[in-house]
Amino acid sequence: MIQTLKRYFGYDSFRPLQEEIIRTVLDGRDSLVLMPTGGGKSICYQLPALLCEGTAVVVSPLISLMKDQVESLCANGVAAGALNSSNDETENAVLRRACMEGSLKLLYISPEKLIAEANYLLRDMHISLFAIDEAHCISQWGHDFRPEYAQMGFIREMFPNIPVIALTATADKITREDIVRQLHLNQPKVFISSFDRPNLSLTVKRGYQQKEKSKAILDFIGRHRGESGIIYCMSRSKTETVAQMLQKQGLRVAVYHAGLSSVRRDEAQDDFINDRVQIVCATIAFGMGIDKSNVRWVIHYNLPKSIESFYQEIGRAGRDGLPSDTLLFYSLADLILLTKFATESGQQGINLEKLQRMQQYAEADVCRRRILLSYFGEATTEDCGNCDVCKNPPQRFDGTVIVQKALSAIVRTEQQIGTSILVDILRGNNTPDVSEKGYQQLKTFGAGREVPARDWQDYLLQMLQLGYFEIAYNENNHLKITNSGSDVLFGRSQARLAVIRREESAPAKGRKKKPTIPVRELPLGLPNTESEELFEALRALRKRLAD
Ligand code: ADP
Ligand code: MG
Repeated sequence: MIQTLKRYFGYDSFRPLQEEIIRTVLDGRDSLVLMPTGGGKSICYQLPALLCEGTAVVVSPLISLMKDQVESLCANGVAAGALNSSNDETENAVLRRACMEGSLKLLYISPEKLIAEANYLLRDMHISLFAIDEAHCISQWGHDFRPEYAQMGFIREMFPNIPVIALTATADKITREDIVRQLHLNQPKVFISSFDRPNLSLTVKRGYQQKEKSKAILDFIGRHRGESGIIYCMSRSKTETVAQMLQKQGLRVAVYHAGLSSVRRDEAQDDFINDRVQIVCATIAFGMGIDKSNVRWVIHYNLPKSIESFYQEIGRAGRDGLPSDTLLFYSLADLILLTKFATESGQQGINLEKLQRMQQYAEADVCRRRILLSYFGEATTEDCGNCDVCKNPPQRFDGTVIVQKALSAIVRTEQQIGTSILVDILRGNNTPDVSEKGYQQLKTFGAGREVPARDWQDYLLQMLQLGYFEIAYNENNHLKITNSGSDVLFGRSQARLAVIRREESAPAKGRKKKPTIPVRELPLGLPNTESEELFEALRALRKRLAD
């Protein structure tokens, strides 16, 4: 294995998990690989492909992605090709012949072609393994669902003895389960490599207006003179206006979105990769599979719709491991718009839940990296020191008893409740929902009466962010206690909660009022009339959703 790694890829050693994954594939077992962008997923199927007889079939969602991989493989002396709709007939004919003769080690193929060729080419080939790259595309619960991906379950049935390896950089628990189910993976070995990217700094700016954003962006870029970066915007038109604003300052900027011709998109991507432009202003259409190691920063001009999208996008910075900065602008207007989109979408419940988690990240007063990692199911016990919350921390107190009260109520209801009924139980409100289940009989009923309901909401949010419980959004959003939650519940560890910062809480006597933004305050900077309007709209929307 090491020899092959050295010979074809020029590396001396494996990265964490690569070797185990490769062995699993060579043993003929199915596997699911979760590894952050840039972690080195490709080798996990490319190396087995070289070591096995026959041809590895690699399903990949983007033609540009296939092209890059095939080019670099060929440059390393590996026989590889890509079968997709952008080839002309002669090219495809040559490829087909190579496949039948068994002279190709890797065949990259689009999902459409895979389905179309199932009963033709695939039957006549000697296939060594199937690799499904960007496997989250198969799930409607993933952040980039592609209908063509959803039909690939037939592989497992049609080729029962050929191992399947599914790979992705972003999938929460429910998406992972969905990938396994939809691909009919057979007792797959699941590999989750750490999602931690400690070299990325995390900063959120709340409630900036367009002008303030422009100024903040220019300041930020000024601190990154000449360094490559990406600015993600929600709309195509916004990418254009932001680009123009930067071009006026003499910066070299490209625009990338799905409304441009593929020629122009390729050009923009090429210019960026080869440092002919410093900055790309893009929609989410940009970035999948781009292998540029020295992207030094990523700015989100708008709030992304999920933590998965956000993490995927900031993950494009700092792939060389060097310090890189990320900046997210969070505004109420974005939140409303995205809530609307989510409400109108088919997957309403899930999309709203994902948006809410994104919102919680943006509003957090605990270490932001802990939120990200706990979202992906990774337990952490330490604050990162490289996010704005760590650098400017809120005051904290020993909240163990508060946390224990909440967690014990969750346990006593057998983890079958959501947050609002939990608050009712803690506050001792005998609502119809409470009495229907007989929860007023519980020992914990009313145990948290001294804490106002909205403070409970805040503490619960903090507890979620600290990873003491999870929300099972495939189970009516019921709360499930985690291991670190149990540790607090049974007195094995202490819970440090943040003092709630609110507008009306009077500053301590004699001390100067702190210039921090109160956590639940209306974001600053929106013009007054508009902000009131937006705030009303949000309240109405929330109420409708709650109803
Ligand atoms: P992913 O698909 O997980 O985003 P890639 O497979 O494209 O990541 O790999 C990212 C980068 O890491 C590539 O430049 C690749 O050559 C490099 N890489 C992968 N494995 C190793 C290794 N064992 N040693 C050094 N570099 C590696
Ligand atoms: Mg990849």
